[in-house]
Amino acid sequence: MNSTHSAGPAAPFDTHKPWTNWGGNQTATPAYTVRPRTDDEVVDTVRFAIREGLQVRVVGAGHSFTPVVQTGGVLLDLSAITGITGVDTARRRVRLRGGTAIHQIGDPLWEHGLALANQGDIDKQSISGAIATGTHGSGKDLGSFSSALRWVRLIDGRGDIVEIGEDRLHELRAAQTAIGTLGVFLEVELQVVDRYYLQEQITYPTWAETKATWDKDIAENRHYSFLWCQSEESAALYELPTPAGEAMSGRSYTKRYNAIDMDPDERGVDHTEGQRRDRSYRIYPGGFMLPFHELEYYVPAERGLEAIEQLQDLILHTHTDQKYPIETRWVKQDEGYISPFSHRDTMVLSVSGAPGSDYWLYLRDVDGLLAEYDARVHWGKIHFMTRERMERLFPQFNQFLSVRREFDPHGLFLNDHTRALLA
Ligand SMILES: Cc1cc2nc3c(=O)[nH]c(=O)nc-3n(C[C@H](O)[C@H](O)[C@H](O)COP(=O)(O)OP(=O)(O)OC[C@H]3O[C@@H](n4cnc5c(N)ncnc54)[C@H](O)[C@@H]3O)c2cc1C
Repeated sequence: MNSTHSAGPAAPFDTHKPWTNWGGNQTATPAYTVRPRTDDEVVDTVRFAIREGLQVRVVGAGHSFTPVVQTGGVLLDLSAITGITGVDTARRRVRLRGGTAIHQIGDPLWEHGLALANQGDIDKQSISGAIATGTHGSGKDLGSFSSALRWVRLIDGRGDIVEIGEDRLHELRAAQTAIGTLGVFLEVELQVVDRYYLQEQITYPTWAETKATWDKDIAENRHYSFLWCQSEESAALYELPTPAGEAMSGRSYTKRYNAIDMDPDERGVDHTEGQRRDRSYRIYPGGFMLPFHELEYYVPAERGLEAIEQLQDLILHTHTDQKYPIETRWVKQDEGYISPFSHRDTMVLSVSGAPGSDYWLYLRDVDGLLAEYDARVHWGKIHFMTRERMERLFPQFNQFLSVRREFDPHGLFLNDHTRALLA
């Protein structure tokens, strides 16, 4: 129901409208789904929720697989609060409105001679959603989106607008990865880099070949990542192109992206599969049209090879019905209090289950296996993290809690999922 009822928020809203995430594994029916057009309407909506005793969550692009968006109260959709608000070319900084989608950033930033330092497999997410969960690409020298956050203007749990910059490092480290629990991000400032072109190289090595060049590949490529395929069905589940007529079992779809020079009129642009050359932000995003349900865990980089071989064993000997590839990436450590990469260079391992199938025993076993490696988790992908584990795995967990409680003393932004972890 669309309404501008005087008892509701000033911004356009629906009542009791069902919401579903991209993967189709999370649903909610908020009392109000509100689509503010201005910062003032966002503030008004948060204050409305406080008056009505309703909880608030924000939805970005709905690309998380975890219950991080759900609320029975007010769901704020910031998809109209978009765009670049400022660029400092000398300091390589950009300011963006909180609802800006990653795919809206590349072109205008390029015009200023700048680019995002790294990106993930898609660019559909909102910038605030990506920051909230520690979204990342791959590259041992490249941090997550959260690690690039230098300043944020947000609405806290009292309905007040607050700015957190580098003069408030304690709060900034909490804000860098906060799963939406400090408040509503209206505007963010990111550290970016000089614009660059990328050359893609795709290969299909056997596992023995992957191991033979392990250290060199991680060290020498700007972006190195691979998807290891346990069966002939695996690659198609993620829509990965493979060489015609060649077996893929035990082999990987392997990506290497490195920076290249290109002439100013970009005559070298090439979109041939496997050898694309173009502006950085046109190379990173892939497709992923078919839904899947993904779990992603993070192990210390130095234990990565051992961990993936254990995971391969689990799939090949115990969960032979599971066909999605293992995606493997690297992320540089950062300083966010509950960032999964906090003070730890990381190797990323992700697996998926098929929507509609019972993959829970498999994912539980993956969790049990990787817990032995002190694995942390992607906050936007399926996980079995508990409060007790968090206290052990995040040395600065209590610092995070003190900031969260200061910014949201009455738990306006907590839902059942985040309350269990972060109350
Ligand atoms: C097909 C696919 C590919 C993916 N690829 C990658 C990848 O390559 N790398 C990777 O790391 N992850 C990846 N992900 C996961 C994804 O990046 C994260 O789940 C990300 O958080 C989704 O962003 P979103 O805008 O959809 O946020 P949502 O899922 O809508 O929200 C995520 C969190 O952000 C909060 N939030 C959103 N906006 C605001 C705001 N303005 N203020 C405060 N809080 C806010 C929400 O409340 C919620 O807690 C992928 C997911 C899918 C489905």
